[in-house]
Amino acid sequence: MTIELVQDFIESSKDKYIQLSDEIWQYAELGYTEQKSAAAHIAFLKAAGFTVREGVAGIPTAFVAEAGSGGPVIGILGEFDALSGLSQESLALSCCPSTEISNGNGHGCGHHLLGTSAHLAAVAVKNALERGGIEGTVRFYGCPAEEGGWGKTFMTRAGLFDDVSAAITWHPGVANTIMNLESLAVKQAYFRFKGVAAHAGASPHLGRSALDALELMNIGTNFLREHMIPDARVHYAITDAGGVAPNVVQPNAAALYMIRAPRNRDASELYERICNIARGAALMTDCELEIEVHSACSNLLRNTTLNELMQAKLKQFGAPQYDSEELQFAESMHRTTRPEEVEMAGRMLASAWRQPKALFDGVDELYNDRPSKMHGSTDVGDVSWVTPTVQCMTACFAFGTSPHSWQWVSQGKSALAHKGMTLAAKTMAATALELYTNPLLLAAARTELKERLADEPYVCPIPDGVQPPIPGRSA
Ligand SMILES: [Zn+2]
Repeated sequence: MTIELVQDFIESSKDKYIQLSDEIWQYAELGYTEQKSAAAHIAFLKAAGFTVREGVAGIPTAFVAEAGSGGPVIGILGEFDALSGLSQESLALSCCPSTEISNGNGHGCGHHLLGTSAHLAAVAVKNALERGGIEGTVRFYGCPAEEGGWGKTFMTRAGLFDDVSAAITWHPGVANTIMNLESLAVKQAYFRFKGVAAHAGASPHLGRSALDALELMNIGTNFLREHMIPDARVHYAITDAGGVAPNVVQPNAAALYMIRAPRNRDASELYERICNIARGAALMTDCELEIEVHSACSNLLRNTTLNELMQAKLKQFGAPQYDSEELQFAESMHRTTRPEEVEMAGRMLASAWRQPKALFDGVDELYNDRPSKMHGSTDVGDVSWVTPTVQCMTACFAFGTSPHSWQWVSQGKSALAHKGMTLAAKTMAATALELYTNPLLLAAARTELKERLADEPYVCPIPDGVQPPIPGRSA
């Protein structure tokens, strides 16, 4: 019954949501500046009868839309931020900047699809609750700045998920599968050194070089790599190299560090070791050091109960059918990939991808005991520590094309992307509906989370005083 309700509602209303997704592709706004994208979502949600709380967690582009009443409360998470430097012509088969978008950005991670599909799922759930006379609340969470701004972590810290019974989301990709993943926890911090300027030729002994301190810190960190756990990652960007004058002893220098590790406590431990290296560098050079936490996010906690439920729903709907034009487009796009990209895409699947095709046209098997390791991070992680969380992926792009590439931007308004986002919306809505009507399953998912938290309870990795890094807002 619920499957038909979802299927019919989404099929009959999908066109205007496809338009919304295309509109947001066009806005291509970066994290925390998604004003037009958030406004477009909010207008649609209000028109669909949702009550919207705007500017939540102190973030102007974060919002929570709600419908229904009582419990359970199911949260469906959406994103809408784009990536810098990825402007790309829609449907082009080579890398060329868009003539439609002037801000230089592009939806290289498909978050225009992600947000719109999750939004459509929430509207479909509202409709099914009303039609079926089912008690419960559905929320759509408008989550800004997934790309390095970790909006959901700030939203989690603000308690926005505390009363959520379970959370559901998805990510556009190259296959139809459950995201049975382990992601890395992250800590991001600025390390700023302050020295003394001096004439580099006439009186270098009077100077104290902040650039020397920063270089020594980076060298120290690079030596640390041998002695950290293999799955950890450390990256840095020099945000202030002290200017362009070599004849001045540089009085200021800074770097933004990104420290990743499998679990929150590993990331915290590694962060402390890197802070010590920075302190050592400051001591060696007689400079002052300031450490400022930028943001952070937690690793994902899997929920095998919800994984199995969502897998069953995904299988029930099955992969979309494609016409010859769509298959041809996928084929052309697939030809732009390198063999190692295809191999990388195959590695995240549970079932062996023996015969790489241009388009993934089935549903991957789920092996709950074999999660794939994702050496990236997602702020869905924090939500997954406070409420049982599940995510699927659907094929929106030709197999082997990679996230954060021109190919994903190019395919973002294609029929493939639209079909993938429609399948994801159906899968999310059907998963949610099962949770309203199957209290035992929801209880099992919640017990599973409790067990996973037994040896490390959730502590938000972003300290209380740290504000979301919103451009233009002073700290
Ligand atoms: Zn993404």
